[in-house]
Parts: sequence; C-alpha cells; structure tokens
Amino acid sequence: MIHLVVIGAKGRMGTAVLEQARRAGDWGIAGEIDQGDALKSALTRSDVTIDFSSHEFTPVVAEASAKAGKPLVVGTTGHGPEESHRIRRAGEKIPMVWAPNFSTGVNLLFYLVRKATAVLGGEFDVEIVEAHHRRKRDAPSGTARRLAEIVAEVRGMALEKAARHGREGEPGPRKAEEIGIHAIRAGQIVGLHTVLFAGPGEVLEFVHRAESRDTFALGALRAARWVVGKPPGVYTMEDVLGLT
Ligand code: NAD
Repeated sequence: MIHLVVIGAKGRMGTAVLEQARRAGDWGIAGEIDQGDALKSALTRSDVTIDFSSHEFTPVVAEASAKAGKPLVVGTTGHGPEESHRIRRAGEKIPMVWAPNFSTGVNLLFYLVRKATAVLGGEFDVEIVEAHHRRKRDAPSGTARRLAEIVAEVRGMALEKAARHGREGEPGPRKAEEIGIHAIRAGQIVGLHTVLFAGPGEVLEFVHRAESRDTFALGALRAARWVVGKPPGVYTMEDVLGLT
C-alpha cells in the first residue's frame, strides 16, 4: 500500500484524485489537505504527495516536501517565474513529476506536435487554441503554453518573442515566426486543445478533448506510483509514459 497525501483535497481535481485512489483500492490516504490544514504533519505519514491546490501554494508544498524528503507530483498550473524557480529548486532534492496535463492523450499530443513541427518546418504557421470552463483562473492553459514551448524549442526560438496572445485591431500580416495562442473560457468545458499547422496548400490539425477530470486524476496517480523511489530530479509526464 502506498500512502498518499492530496493537497487541494476539496477542489475539483483533489476530489477526483481521492475518488480514483479509493476506487483503485491499493492507496492509503495519509492526508487530505485544503485551506487551513497542517501540511507538515501529513507529510511525515506519506510516501508521496499529489498537489492540485494553487500556483501560489505549490512552492510552499515543494519546499516542505524537499525538507521532508518526500516525492511530489505537481498538478497546479499558472506559476510565475519566481514560483517556478522555487519549485524547480526543490526538485533538486526530491523526485518530482511536474506536468501541466496528466492525460495520456495530451502527452502523446506533445510528442506528435514535436514531430510535426520538425517535419513540417518553418513554412507552416502554428496556432494553438484552448478552451476551458468559466472558473479557470489562469490563461492560456499550462497545456497550451507547453505546446507552444515545444514548437519554439524545435524551431530554436524563445517563446516570449514568438508567442502571439490573441489579435485585435490591425495586427497587420502574420509574421512567419509567430506562434498564435488563444484562450476561450465558457461553460463547463473540461479541456479542449487544438494545434493547427497551416502551410502551402494544406492544413493539419490536432485536437484533444478531455471529457472528464478522471483522465487527469488517473494520470496523476500513475505519476505518483512511478515517482516513488526515483532519484531526485524534475520529471515530466512524458517520462512517466516512456515517451522521452
Ligand atoms: P479548484 O479551485 O477546484 O481546487 C483547488 C483547491 O485547492 C481548493 O479546494 C482550494 O481551497 C485549495 N487550495 C488553494 N490554495 C490552498 C492553500 N494555500 N492551502 C491548501 N489548499 C489550498 O481548482 P481545480 O480545478 O481542482 O484545479 C487546481 C489546479 O490544478 C489549478 O492550478 C488547475 O489549473 C490545475 N489543473 C491541472 C491539471 C493537470 O492535468 N495538470 C488538470 C486540471 C487542473
């Protein structure tokens, strides 16, 4: 039995993770932490922690996990540079899986987009469109950002220079190096990502639709099982799935 602590336990994702862990039957729930609960004592009882709280709290969770020497799965998104730096530094001391999206399909999409960018080359314009439910706090989604990062990495460009977040007024002709990123917020959409490659005479589109949070919850539990016993370092879901 693996002893699990869930942070953000009362939230949409925390609830889904706890439900799937209970259904699987071989997880011991060592802590369900939400606002106002003690983190440190829960960590002493755990083998691994899954954090789906908020981008502000994750650096605190990462530092506490590093201090306790406990593996961590980071599910939150929307971290600023300072927050990302603190999380990454904690990941030098403990094994950590940090993924903007735990679904198997999306991680396969990362792989396919890397391949498509390399094969199609600079002649193809890339635009990324994401849609999420109306309560989502950050935009664009961590997944859209990661997709854009992959395109920029393959093209040897800095994403901050290439990213084009929405367009209005008279933006003028599109520059070849732009990576368009567009966020839709509506209703209860769990997660929809489209990556569009438009080139001379043809368009290739990849679409991923998350239909329930269970895909993220099951992926996070798979990552948690995988990360226990690994050497310190920051791993991705692509590592967990053997796609790297
Ligand atoms: P939510 O608002 O439903 O849940 C967040 C929970 O965390 C709430 O219960 C809140 O009280 C708790 N929380 C916030 N700050 C806390 C703190 N300081 N201490 C303790 N508890 C705290 O949000 P959600 O939809 O479950 O999403 C949570 C995070 O996970 C977001 O960053 C979201 O973008 C991300 N997310 C990631 C994936 C993925 O696959 N990586 C999938 C879905 C959502």
